[in-house]
Amino acid sequence: KHAAKIRLDNVKQGQDRDKDKSDRATAELVLDQRTRMILLQMINRGLVSEIHGAISTGKEANVYGAVLYPDNPDADEPIQRAIKIYKTAILVFKDRERYIAGEHRFKAGSDKGNNRKMVKLWAEKEFRNLRRLHAAGIACPEPLMLKLHVLVMEFLGDKRGYAYPRLRDARLAGDDVDDQWHHLYVQLLGIMRRLYQVCNLVHADLSEYNILYHDKQLYIIDVSQSVEHDHPHSLEFLRMDIKNVGDFFRRQGVDTLQDRTIFNFITA
Ligand code: ADP
Ligand code: MN
Repeated sequence: KHAAKIRLDNVKQGQDRDKDKSDRATAELVLDQRTRMILLQMINRGLVSEIHGAISTGKEANVYGAVLYPDNPDADEPIQRAIKIYKTAILVFKDRERYIAGEHRFKAGSDKGNNRKMVKLWAEKEFRNLRRLHAAGIACPEPLMLKLHVLVMEFLGDKRGYAYPRLRDARLAGDDVDDQWHHLYVQLLGIMRRLYQVCNLVHADLSEYNILYHDKQLYIIDVSQSVEHDHPHSLEFLRMDIKNVGDFFRRQGVDTLQDRTIFNFITA
């Protein structure tokens, strides 16, 4: 999956001599001078040793696999990490302003004119929200470091660098698949409640695309747009999340509860 490495010296020199054109294009898309500097800093600080190809290329951000080689390679295995790099040169962020605008946490910084500032805010929001989830014991990538629009986090995947599938792509096996789907549904309702009650947050983009699955466990990701209770649209976003989740699990054959019942369970 991570065939093409962004080699260390490439990061340093701002060159990418990799022969694979599509990978080069992907890498170059976000790796401007400033981003390369930040990555170098992270390498120097020992957060990662090597940055690999993109796990995901999205509209607003790319996610890369990375590896940290241990000081003592005889005793310790390499540690996989994930780096989410928000794109700074886009206008999509205009659309996202409504998530930030209503939040007291970010009032001082929301500057409509400045794209780069917006992107930084966005990454900061994801970092802080991940910290909250992690502190509340909700399975998610542990946030490790943030610098401007670059976020280093725990890699959710195996030791070889294969990321866990999104819930959408999860293939459950066994003769109790219906039971497993039911349990995952119940697990997710518990997570949503905890997110609301303990973290004071509504995910606001919750669906089978922003949940990873491994070994009967759901992992919540992509919380940059998550909002606090006091956001003027938070309950609207919560209803949307509830609907998405219900739609998905119904398609898996789960006998789901009514949206209103779930809403009360989460908020009560
Ligand atoms: P986007 O804003 O592009 O939707 P996401 O945070 O949802 O960004 O990440 C995009 C994809 O990258 C996810 O669907 C998942 O497959 C992968 N991914 C994100 N974070 C991690 C992680 N910590 N570990 C492994 N894979 C990840
Ligand atoms: Mn996503």
